Amino acid sequence: MKDYYKTLGVSNNATQEEIKKAFRKLALQYHPDRNPNDKLAEEKFKEINEAYSCLSDPQKRANYDRYGTAEGPTGGFGFAAGTPFSDIFSDIFDDFFGGFSRGSRTRPTKGDDLRYDLEITLEEAAFGVEKNIKVPRLQSCDVCGGNGSAPGTSPETCNECRGTGNIRFQQGFFSVSKTCGKCQGKGTIISKPCQQCKGNGKIKVYRQLSVKVPAGVDTGSRLKLRGEGDIGSNGGPPGDLYVVISVAEHPFFKREGIHLYCEVPISFTKAVLGGEIEVPTLDGHHKLKIPPGTRSGKLFHLKNKGMPRLGGQQRGEQIVSVYIDVPKKLTPRQKELLEEFAAIEGEQIEESSKGFKERIKDFFSMKD
Ligand SMILES: [Zn+2]
Ligand SMILES: [Zn+2]
Repeated sequence: MKDYYKTLGVSNNATQEEIKKAFRKLALQYHPDRNPNDKLAEEKFKEINEAYSCLSDPQKRANYDRYGTAEGPTGGFGFAAGTPFSDIFSDIFDDFFGGFSRGSRTRPTKGDDLRYDLEITLEEAAFGVEKNIKVPRLQSCDVCGGNGSAPGTSPETCNECRGTGNIRFQQGFFSVSKTCGKCQGKGTIISKPCQQCKGNGKIKVYRQLSVKVPAGVDTGSRLKLRGEGDIGSNGGPPGDLYVVISVAEHPFFKREGIHLYCEVPISFTKAVLGGEIEVPTLDGHHKLKIPPGTRSGKLFHLKNKGMPRLGGQQRGEQIVSVYIDVPKKLTPRQKELLEEFAAIEGEQIEESSKGFKERIKDFFSMKD
């Protein structure tokens, strides 16, 4: 039996919050996007997901604690109340002999979970968006009704196992059972397979779904659409669909959590004399005051102009870093004025640079 608590690295009496925290940390670490082509990380990521999907659900967790399986006493690998003793043994021996006890004839199995990668823009992440997606999933075949047999025919009972899906034989003291090889444990044989599903009973169908992406999502956020995964087997419930969000890079903003960073040029006269500039924000243009004597790299914090917190009201800041745009071309008149400015400045610099030279003298062991 897998130890889900161990997988997530939490104790058996961890709170839901602790479980969630542990999961997030591990999921980020082993996320396939961060570990491309790493089979081990992929395996680990699956395990973490499995453990979390069980422990995060109080009902499943209670079942798991009690029966060692999320499905409780009637499904999964737990033994149903009233199961004959010999069946319990055969289950154990099936594992010993490499039989397919999991696919056994009547056991309901949940359908596979599916993943859909959805890329959205930063603006969409900021304000939320509704997206139409097309997802392929396995559904019950509409031609044969899911039994895999051509219309007008029906699956026949397997004569090898007489419909039980298992072959019993004597192994020393014990009666041992093995999955029937002829019907692969299904108990039935399809002599005339349905043409549409080739006898599978399931077909791949593209379904159009509408996904509500909430404001504040970030790359790696997962939205769970319950029951939108593959169809289950033997009456088991369908799997779930996980929509995994990635937020595209923005040409202007860099995102860090709920804060947005950007760089904006200012003219050097504005840097010196001060003035006002227009800064693009997610909510449109914003007027920003530049105080006289602003240096390159100065940061301005625009409160409430960042990203919203997922599920919260609050918004982060937009942090504007200004840099001075030095003009490359000057008109003769501009040049003249600047040369005049330089001449005046030169006299001032002579004065002020004395102090500067003094200060760095010791530091660089300068001699002049
Ligand atoms: Zn069919
Ligand atoms: Zn059989």
